[in-house]
Amino acid sequence: PSVCERVLPRVAAGELVAGFGLTEPDAGSDLGMVATRAEKHGSRWRIRGAKTFISNAGVADLYTLLARTSGELGDGGKGSLTMFLVRGDAKGLSTRRFEVTSPHPIGDVLLEDVEVPDEERIGAVGGGLEVALGTLGRFRTSVAAAANGFARRALDESLVRTSTRQQFGKPLAAFQGLAFDLAEMDTRLRAAELLVEEAADTVDRGERAVEEVARAKLFSTENASWVCDRAVQHFGGLGVVRGSIVEQLWRDVRALRIYEGTSEIQKLILSRALVARAAGK
Ligand SMILES: Cc1cc2nc3c(=O)[nH]c(=O)nc-3n(C[C@H](O)[C@H](O)[C@H](O)COP(=O)(O)OP(=O)(O)OC[C@H]3O[C@@H](n4cnc5c(N)ncnc54)[C@H](O)[C@@H]3O)c2cc1C
Repeated sequence: PSVCERVLPRVAAGELVAGFGLTEPDAGSDLGMVATRAEKHGSRWRIRGAKTFISNAGVADLYTLLARTSGELGDGGKGSLTMFLVRGDAKGLSTRRFEVTSPHPIGDVLLEDVEVPDEERIGAVGGGLEVALGTLGRFRTSVAAAANGFARRALDESLVRTSTRQQFGKPLAAFQGLAFDLAEMDTRLRAAELLVEEAADTVDRGERAVEEVARAKLFSTENASWVCDRAVQHFGGLGVVRGSIVEQLWRDVRALRIYEGTSEIQKLILSRALVARAAGK
């Protein structure tokens, strides 16, 4: 069985925790700058380099890791990067955790001549960028769905607070300025949810879903930040008390506009697809 057939059932069963190692200090949005190198020695690969911002660093049992097997820095990465499965306890692998604005296991993954057997290569030599982008192209839908979950909770909190909190002798929701906010939060959230449904349906049908997924990720994450921010506003001072629900949502949702491709990268993907289609390509 292939390496994927061997490990994926255990990941799906929750027995193994996985990490996805693309980002490096000089390779963020531009994966063509991946500098981690893998060199073949007999039937094994030797990997050397540093990854950063890796979710589950230090927690993961295995990492799917992108490394350079040919080409040069800044070459775009097509044909020159390869994906490997690297065990979390491999000799030469170490991790360094750091904190981000909300609770999230994340850190650097450092590789000093980590050996990986050729059977634990994922996909073709030189096919790593396609594996990475193919994965992101599907899973960004789940980031969009998560963003909508944050926004749904924020809207629920706003509805309760503005219905019960009284100022000037009336519930806050009786003031049109805030009531209209609630209507807009609801409408934008529903639009985001429908974009996620469309993207997920397209992915499930096995069709190319580049535009659908980019739209869902872009709109849902940007909108969720806006919805959570409105909820903080509706709570007034309580909205910024550390540990209150809307304060946590506001902080937690922020990173979703950055990881699995920033909002700007989604705009780049979408606009390229639109322009190519308009040109009949
Ligand atoms: C909480 C969290 C978890 C993460 N988990 C993982 C993980 O598990 N695995 C992993 O590999 N990475 C992970 N990342 C890294 C994440 O994918 C990168 O942060 C992201 O791709 C952006 O890269 P960068 O931070 O280097 O920013 P940069 O690429 O330096 O971008 C900086 C800014 O410039 C903009 N920009 C860049 N290029 C363009 C362009 N061509 N046009 C317009 N604007 C542009 C970006 O949109 C951004 O606003 C995680 C990040 C965070 C915050």
